[in-house]
Amino acid sequence: MDDVWRREFQQRLLEWYDKNARKLPWRVGVLPYRVWVSEIMLQQTRVEPVVAYYERFLTEVPNLKSLAELSEERLFKLWEGLGYYHRALNMQKAARIVMQSFQGELPQSIEALKSLPGIGDYTAGAIASIAFGIRARAVDGNVIRVMARVGAITGNVSERLVKKEIEDVVDKLLPHERVGDFNQALMEIGATVCIPNGAPKCQVCPLNSLCKGFLEGIAGSLPIQSKKKPRTQSDMSVFLIRFENQIAIRKRVASGLLPNLWEFLSYEGFLSNEQIKEVFRQWNMEVEEILPAPSSQHVFTHLVWNMQGHVVWVKNKEESLEWVWSSKEEILKKYSIPSAYRAYVKFILNQ
Ligand code: SF4
Repeated sequence: MDDVWRREFQQRLLEWYDKNARKLPWRVGVLPYRVWVSEIMLQQTRVEPVVAYYERFLTEVPNLKSLAELSEERLFKLWEGLGYYHRALNMQKAARIVMQSFQGELPQSIEALKSLPGIGDYTAGAIASIAFGIRARAVDGNVIRVMARVGAITGNVSERLVKKEIEDVVDKLLPHERVGDFNQALMEIGATVCIPNGAPKCQVCPLNSLCKGFLEGIAGSLPIQSKKKPRTQSDMSVFLIRFENQIAIRKRVASGLLPNLWEFLSYEGFLSNEQIKEVFRQWNMEVEEILPAPSSQHVFTHLVWNMQGHVVWVKNKEESLEWVWSSKEEILKKYSIPSAYRAYVKFILNQ
């Protein structure tokens, strides 16, 4: 890469960004805390659905101090629907560390940022460059795809060495000014022009005359990456347990998948009505009536839940340390039930 090529690349990308950047709330009045929250929310999630969550979150939790002091229950409620709740937990842990050890201000170095829970290479680079103007790369999946195509890199981008090759190229490409815009522009072009899952829109791409993949006619077949392992399938029966106007829900354990969140009671496998009655006997509840509820599926990164729902009316309101009885109102406002159960929350609220 020579200087002329580099300058041309930077200029075209930034000019395109100035005209085409999506108007997003975290790009207005850039503040470190706001950049951080947006970057954490955007991990493994598309931009469009994040906007509403972000605005609601910032209204109630406007700064680091309020995040550090927020109850876990409320944090989960505000995060409900975004998924990957460990991101929220790590963000709060990091906020508490920042309050204690960094005088309440996000640190302005890559190393210090990376010392905080939930902040890895990418997020540290994004915060440092966007919020502080530090010349640091922010290489996410979008950037890897764009740069693999621009450089016609035919190695497997899932491999560490190939990723490193791309990171080195990005390091050399970073401008000395507007580095935050440059990083955002690379991600933005990856999200809207040099798209995944479909042909890249090379005809309208400002980088096309600099893009080896396009010029060689191989852009659409890049990047090369390892096939993902098939997800484990898990079948389960979900019980919407009703007694008068109350519903039983329980808190998940503090570790593993969806820690500390609330859920409807469930049991492994698709159970017949007789089997359901037997399970309820073990829970000391006598079944009055079993009615069908929707089937639903939720896809996690490595796992798929296949759920068969049942509304189970019981004759006795068994109290237990394992579950609580809640009203519809509490389910809506108080308890954080992950989006995996969205179909059942909707169903129960409409009943
Ligand atoms: S020319 Fe095509 S392949 Fe190259 S960066 Fe632009 S959209 Fe991607």
